[in-house]
Amino acid sequence: MRLDRFLFHHTDHARRDIRRILAAGRVQVEGQVEKDTRCEIGDFTQVMLDGKLLRDTSPVYLMLNKPAGYLSATTDPEHPTVMELINVPETLHIAGRLDRASTGLLILTNDGKWSRRLTEPKENVPKVYLVETAEPVTEETHDHFARGIYFAYEDLTTAPADLEIITPHQARLTIYEGRYHQVKRMFHAVGNKVTSLHRESMGGIMLDRSLEVGKYRPLTEAEVAFSS
Ligand code: URA
Repeated sequence: MRLDRFLFHHTDHARRDIRRILAAGRVQVEGQVEKDTRCEIGDFTQVMLDGKLLRDTSPVYLMLNKPAGYLSATTDPEHPTVMELINVPETLHIAGRLDRASTGLLILTNDGKWSRRLTEPKENVPKVYLVETAEPVTEETHDHFARGIYFAYEDLTTAPADLEIITPHQARLTIYEGRYHQVKRMFHAVGNKVTSLHRESMGGIMLDRSLEVGKYRPLTEAEVAFSS
């Protein structure tokens, strides 16, 4: 298999990013920096990205009950990362990040193709968040979210989202994309502020209520199959 294809299947990077990653010299094949997208990767070729071994035969799928204060990143000089909570030898990536203060369902895997199906906006997989806000959540906000919110930076309007108002300051929001800081930006656009954000589910995968904060478990076969 070609190196660019191998990287696509073993990471969560989009095809367009892979050329850049290779050109930056971040990939090593058999211990040597390799920049050629066409380099042939055999069954036992050792490929590393940023010093981490990518080759792994068995797919791994985990759910973590993310605590507040942990970054959805592999390493960080300043803050603890969710990887510090996971004790598995495989190289995992995060399928749909949560902000540092956000809590709840975080999925980690080494299966790039599977995680893209869960996270790419075009796949329309529902993500459900329990949100607390500084200002009361109004019916107008419900209607506004259902029509979509314009994000000037990306020049796009968010897909219709469902808002269930639970109490004046608490709501359950279902979005079908997962853009950068999407939930906070949607509430900001209607003059409100998110004070707490907890992800309850992604596609058919619900945060296991018996999973303590900071703990993780493998997804069941049904959860892996029922991701969208
Ligand atoms: N949207 C946000 O703004 N933050 C998250 O952590 C997840 C979704």
